[in-house]
Amino acid sequence: LKALIYHGKNDISVEEIKTPGPGDDQALLKVKAAAICGTDLRIKKSGHRDIPDRTDRILGHELAGEVVEVGDKVIDLKPGMRVAIAPVIGCGKCTVCLSGDANMCESCRILGLGIDGAFAEYMIIPREHIENGNVMIIPPSISFETAALLEPLATVFTGAEACNIRPSNKVMIVGAGPIGIMHTMMAKVFGASVVIISEIAKERAKQAIDHGADHILNPTDGDFREKLMEMTGGNGPDNIIIAAPSPQAQAESLELVSVNGNINFFGTIPTEKQPVSLDTNLIHYKRINVVGNTGTSVKNYFRTAELLKSGTLDISGLISRTFSLENAEEAFALAESKEVLKVLFTF
Ligand SMILES: [Zn+2]
Ligand SMILES: [Zn+2]
Repeated sequence: LKALIYHGKNDISVEEIKTPGPGDDQALLKVKAAAICGTDLRIKKSGHRDIPDRTDRILGHELAGEVVEVGDKVIDLKPGMRVAIAPVIGCGKCTVCLSGDANMCESCRILGLGIDGAFAEYMIIPREHIENGNVMIIPPSISFETAALLEPLATVFTGAEACNIRPSNKVMIVGAGPIGIMHTMMAKVFGASVVIISEIAKERAKQAIDHGADHILNPTDGDFREKLMEMTGGNGPDNIIIAAPSPQAQAESLELVSVNGNINFFGTIPTEKQPVSLDTNLIHYKRINVVGNTGTSVKNYFRTAELLKSGTLDISGLISRTFSLENAEEAFALAESKEVLKVLFTF
């Protein structure tokens, strides 16, 4: 089978490897769609703590496919099933795992990071993922491509809940990348009356309007604040979600958010830009709720899927381009260019 293998920083290549047979308690998945995530771009550039030096790893954690073979001991899965997989598995025993947040487990393992993932024609579905209920059967109404985007969408769903978006709230999203646009759509599902996108790149900002944002603002414009206050009845946004790697946006959000407002530091700030300096008195005097979140629980993965199944949310418009694995270099370059939303491999 063909697989895109990560060997180390700036060293990934498409190679022919032996197709693994599933063990007794595993299944073999024919990957149908796998999306490139910002995390994959970061891994390619600077590695990842889950991938030890000189380990070969098949990346890809946003995925969907068809089960083609199951081990003797597997009863839940059958060949021919169309599935998507929540990639994270926890230890199953610690407090966070027991509370359902395996993605927060200290020893969690993620397909495409700690375990081989989906940038390959076939992949093994590990026993843990099968037994823990991470494998979700997808209905015919959901394409493999859309199903592959369920993972990032579920982290966005988790983020919207974490920062308490309520019906009629005015919400500002910082950053109009694929995640920022998912947040825009999700804020509407949560009942936001107004969604404002703050984005420096004009083209990206325009895409946000196409996907349901009500207003776009450029944070570098002189009248940014004035316009934002106008759009929010003079109070500032009730919720600000920062989906951009910007320390400045984090610091400013404390000034801009409304009294009793909610802020989600959703995007990762590169380590070299930490620590970020914040005026914590603003949190104190304005009684601001500041949260962050990363990844998704299996529970929220399934809850988010309901939004797709019911047609409440249609994210097919986020799929910008699909590539075959042979053109991985071009696919990664396009995803990195920031000219598009989601780039996927299809098989
Ligand atoms: Zn991802
Ligand atoms: Zn655990």
